[in-house]
Amino acid sequence: MEKEITRRNALGKIATTFAVAAVAPGAFAQTKKDTRNTVSDLTDPRTKYPKPPFKKQFQPFPGLAGKMTPIPDHGEESYIGSGRLKGRKALITGGDSGIGRAAAIAYAREGADVAINYLPEEEPDAVQVIELIKKAGRKAIAIPGDLRDEKFCNILVSQAVQQLGGLDILVNNAGHQKTHASILDISTEEFERTMKTNIYAPFWIIKAALPHLKPGSCIIGLSSVQAYDPSAELYDYAQTKAATTSYVKSLAKQLGPKGIRVNGVAPGPVWTALEISGGQTQENIEKFGGDTPLGRPGQPAELASIFVQLADNDASFASGQIYGSAGGSGQP
Ligand code: NAD
Ligand code: MG
Repeated sequence: MEKEITRRNALGKIATTFAVAAVAPGAFAQTKKDTRNTVSDLTDPRTKYPKPPFKKQFQPFPGLAGKMTPIPDHGEESYIGSGRLKGRKALITGGDSGIGRAAAIAYAREGADVAINYLPEEEPDAVQVIELIKKAGRKAIAIPGDLRDEKFCNILVSQAVQQLGGLDILVNNAGHQKTHASILDISTEEFERTMKTNIYAPFWIIKAALPHLKPGSCIIGLSSVQAYDPSAELYDYAQTKAATTSYVKSLAKQLGPKGIRVNGVAPGPVWTALEISGGQTQENIEKFGGDTPLGRPGQPAELASIFVQLADNDASFASGQIYGSAGGSGQP
C-alpha cells in the first residue's frame, strides 16, 4: 500500500509538470491493483492528469486517439468493474475512441456485452477496444459504418440486436464538431454533416432500437456544456447539443410509462480525437481545458463511472436528467 501511495504521488508530480511529451496509453493512469477493500489515498484532481500547454496537433477528421499527444486515458489500465451490469447488452456509437471508448471498456468490465460503431477509417482504434472488451471476458461486436445514412442506422441496430442476442443499453455517443469563425464559413454540406451525425442518427437509431428495449432498458445521449453556453465558433455543433438535451427530456417523458429511462451526459472539455481533428482551433488546443477551475481538460476515463451509473438498475429513478462533468464550471 505504502508503495502504491508513493507511486501515485509520483504520478501526480509528473502530471503537474506534464506538458507536451508523448506517453504510452494509460501511462499516467492509476494503478491496476484492486484497492476496493483497502484504504485509498486522496487523489488531487488538479494534478491527476496532463494540463496545458499541449502540443499543437491536427489530424484529418475523424482522427485517431492512438496518434494523439498525449494519448488519452480511456481507463485501459485503471477501470475496475464490480459486476454492476452483468449480462447487459450495450450498443455504443463512436465506441472506438474518446468518451465512447471509456464507456465501452467500463461496460465490459462491469459484465456487459458490447457492440461498438465507428467510421471505417477508425479501425486501428476500434481493434484495440474490441480486444479490451474480449479481454474482460465479454462479447465484443464491431459494426463500422456511417451514421449519416438512415439505412445503415437500421442495419446497425438489427446487427447489434442479432449478435448481442438483444439490446438494453443504447449510448448515442457519436458526434461531429468543427469550428468555424463565422456562420458565413459554414457550407450547407458541413451544416448537414453536423446535423445528420448529431441529431438525425440518434433519431433513426432510437426508432430502430425501441421495439427491442424492454422495461429496465436505458438510452443515454451526449449533450455538452455547449448546450448551455455555446461558443461563437461552434454555431452548428452547439445547437445540436441543445437539441440533444431537449430530446433526452422529451423522450424520458414519452418512454417513462414504458419503463425505459433516458438520460444525457454533458461533458466540458475532454481530451479526445474530436478536438484535434477540427473540433478546436490550434490556439485552443494549446490551452485546452486550462480555463476550467481544475486547470486542465478531463480524460475520457473520468466520465466512465457516469455511464455505468446511468445504465445500472440502481439508478432506477433517474430519467430525463443531464449529468455534467466539466472540471468545476459549465452547466448543468
Ligand atoms: P471522439 O472523436 O473520440 O468520438 C466521436 C466519435 O463519433 C468518433 O470516434 C466517430 O466514431 C464518431 N462519428 C463521427 N461521425 C460519424 C459518422 N458520420 N458515422 C459514424 N460515427 C461517427 O470524440 P469524443 O469527444 O469522445 O466525442 C464523443 C461525444 O462526446 C460526441 O457526441 C461529442 O459531441 C461529445 N462531447 C465531447 C466533448 C469533448 O470535449 N471531447 C465535450 C462535450 C461533448
Ligand atoms: Mg474515433
